[in-house]
Amino acid sequence: MRHPMFSYDEAFTDSIFEYCRDRLEHDAPLDFGSHSPVALPDLTGLISAEGRDPEETLEFFRDHLASHVISIDSPRFLAFIPNAPTKNSLLFDMVVACSGLNGTSWLESAGAVVAENQALEFLAERAGMPQGSGGAFVSGGSSGNLSALTVGRDVGRARRPEVAPHELRFAISADAHSSIGKALHVLGIDPLLVEPDDHRFTRVNLEKALAADPRPETVIGIVATSGTTNAGIVDDLEGLGSFAREHDLWFHVDGAYGGAALFSSQRELLSGIRHADSFIVDPHKWLFGPLDCCALIYRDPFTARRYLAQQAGYLDVLHGGDDDHYDWNPSDYAIHLSRRARGLPFWFSLVTYGVAAYESATQASIDLAQRTAERITATPGLELVRPASLSVVLFRRTGWGESQYLAWSETLLREQVAFVTPTRWEDEMVARIAFLHPDTSDELVDQILDSMFD
Ligand SMILES: *Cc1c(COP(=O)(O)O)cnc(C)c1O
Repeated sequence: MRHPMFSYDEAFTDSIFEYCRDRLEHDAPLDFGSHSPVALPDLTGLISAEGRDPEETLEFFRDHLASHVISIDSPRFLAFIPNAPTKNSLLFDMVVACSGLNGTSWLESAGAVVAENQALEFLAERAGMPQGSGGAFVSGGSSGNLSALTVGRDVGRARRPEVAPHELRFAISADAHSSIGKALHVLGIDPLLVEPDDHRFTRVNLEKALAADPRPETVIGIVATSGTTNAGIVDDLEGLGSFAREHDLWFHVDGAYGGAALFSSQRELLSGIRHADSFIVDPHKWLFGPLDCCALIYRDPFTARRYLAQQAGYLDVLHGGDDDHYDWNPSDYAIHLSRRARGLPFWFSLVTYGVAAYESATQASIDLAQRTAERITATPGLELVRPASLSVVLFRRTGWGESQYLAWSETLLREQVAFVTPTRWEDEMVARIAFLHPDTSDELVDQILDSMFD
């Protein structure tokens, strides 16, 4: 007699597949939910000693919970950074879920790890990083940045034994992603906060900041962004990267969102990533994979492993005994241990659709951002805040204040037209659209822009 939690229920399994089939078959609706606690169902008593009927509980989820979620994979989701997982990546995510894969170690999952590593090597090669670069897929850019900066800090400590560890710093731009500040906070080190030029961090900015700083020798690394989240701006990767090489500094490139432009006509802007000691890009952003997935790549993965591998008696079997023999444990390259083989859906999608499909999907958003910018420029009453960068457009409706932007955003969502949220730019609230889904249409853009004149 099987334990009830491990017995197979054919009818309910069909219901789950039916639910998933329905989500896959249709273009994701934006879905209109409510954030108001009064509109959300009362969950009291749902968790009980005897359990509940799964069909009813699935229905409850569908009708009362999923309905209060804005679907991030809709072509109408244009806020923050959207997520547009390909059909095959979603399907394969179900395979991963049901396959009993622990992506922690080579011993447990060599077959999954070689495939994930193929995807990482492919990304490293695109980025111009040398052969032998590698790392692991982690949960997101924040965790990728933290892991990479941990290694950068430890390398910096070894290079600068004369500086007290708590005095070591990373040079970062005032426009770096919030997760960089948080990573430094966790690591207990301060930033050298550099004021960029029109939001772009350049070698000249850095040299000036170092020249004005009383203790430039405490700076052990540089963090550059290849595609700021708010505006899609790519830092001076070439200048900052070559400066790092010349001065023996760790060079980290945060490409969580914009690293995917390696697949676009703008890949030249990203060529300086080839200098990176560590680089991250989120397949769950602009590489069309499901949440949650970040590719974390080191130029010298063995250094990362030296600082990050966890040691324990029961883990010794993972690390082998023979120095010449190398077993690749993804757990050794980040701050995690147990992990989902979350790189596999991206790998499967890349293999099945091919690179050209990725290139055209990425390019589609860049092109639409350009056309949107042209349309804004040509419309009296609208103006660009700055030129469209990668797939982000910032613009203003002349004369609007905060309440108008917020009401506009709310109406678009309520009417199921689009999810567009304003942002803050140089102390002003402005409109922002981030394109990512290749099926977002020009007609939708027209409708969104027109709605500013209703
Ligand atoms: C989104 C983003 C991050 C954080 O990534 P998560 O996957 O959300 O943790 C870091 N840096 C940049 C530039 C981003 O756009």
